[in-house]
Amino acid sequence: MRILVTGGCGFIGSALVLHLVRDLGHDVLTLDALTYAANPVSLDSLAEDSRHRLVEADICDADAVRAAFADFAPEAVMHLAAESHVDRSITDPGAFIQTNVIGTQVMLDAARGHYEALPAEAKARFRFLHVSTDEVYGSLPPDAFFTEGSRYDPRSPYSASKAASDHLARAWHETYGLPVLVTNCSNNYGPRHFPEKLIPLMILNALEGRKLPVYGDGLNERDWIHVEDHARGLVAVLERGRVGETYLLGGRAVRNNLAVVKALCAAFDRLRPEGAPHENLISFVADRPGHDRRYAIDPSKAQAEVGWAPSKTFEQALEETVRWYLDNEAWWRPIREGRYTGERLGLAPSE
Ligand code: NAD
Repeated sequence: MRILVTGGCGFIGSALVLHLVRDLGHDVLTLDALTYAANPVSLDSLAEDSRHRLVEADICDADAVRAAFADFAPEAVMHLAAESHVDRSITDPGAFIQTNVIGTQVMLDAARGHYEALPAEAKARFRFLHVSTDEVYGSLPPDAFFTEGSRYDPRSPYSASKAASDHLARAWHETYGLPVLVTNCSNNYGPRHFPEKLIPLMILNALEGRKLPVYGDGLNERDWIHVEDHARGLVAVLERGRVGETYLLGGRAVRNNLAVVKALCAAFDRLRPEGAPHENLISFVADRPGHDRRYAIDPSKAQAEVGWAPSKTFEQALEETVRWYLDNEAWWRPIREGRYTGERLGLAPSE
């Protein structure tokens, strides 16, 4: 199958592209603007693989996007390109509206033009999978879970822009008949995660003996899914999801931020037993404005309809993730270089 993946040089996109090409043998065109969040090194292992091609283009550039469709003639699109960091959306919302809203409209329009020109048989197979987040549903009360019927209630510029993109994707299905699928997923973790997000930031700070800055009281809850489980879930929805439907993907691993950081410290204590316990590095910092208290996913519909389930156990896969960062300094060192220790975002109080 020929699959066009947007944002394939990012964290989830690169895990997905590697899975599609290496494990499943698909032909993939990665379309990526190579923003600060991209690391093309993540796809280095495909450099000599004729099944993969990278096109550097902005999803807001309609001509470039149309050219990619004309050139590659995709049988499916998996749309992941986005501005994805909540803290950045608070300081610079414009970039989020541009890429996440306008860029998604450009992708949908190009896909529609491509789809409408396909012969009937190819039309029946074509899919546009829009990849989104559970943050569009806002904050949950204790013990509650999001389902596909949850009300949209985005509360940050990031989640509002993703919510808008979800509505656009569904509208292109309802209005133009584009065979759209939507997934909303919980927080991902795993290898090749940009070191400004919670887990990689904590791993690299712990590695360097820096403070581990935890927002507020540390009791905000997230539902953690390993990025490879997410990639498998996206493929399952693409292959077996019902057109026009939404599927929630989650790892069935709800943990509060403090528990996550403590689990990381425990992993470090096992892997690097010398010195003081790593928990001594934990420091509480002022909370993020509008910080949602709880996200948690009920993935029952995806499990029942597309036969997917998360396979990784959180604490075990977290330790594997720590090991990955210990073994892959060449991946993160050029990004880290003092720029993403958290100070810029007010995350890490300077010593
Ligand atoms: P990321 O920030 O790691 O990667 C985003 C990628 O998109 C980068 O390679 C970047 O260069 C590219 N990109 C950004 N703007 C672009 C533009 N205008 N044109 C073309 N490419 C552009 O993001 P991620 O964490 O891998 O998230 C991927 C998708 O999954 C996003 O849509 C995000 O909303 C969604 N999502 C993420 C999570 C998570 O925990 N990270 C959870 C649920 C859903």
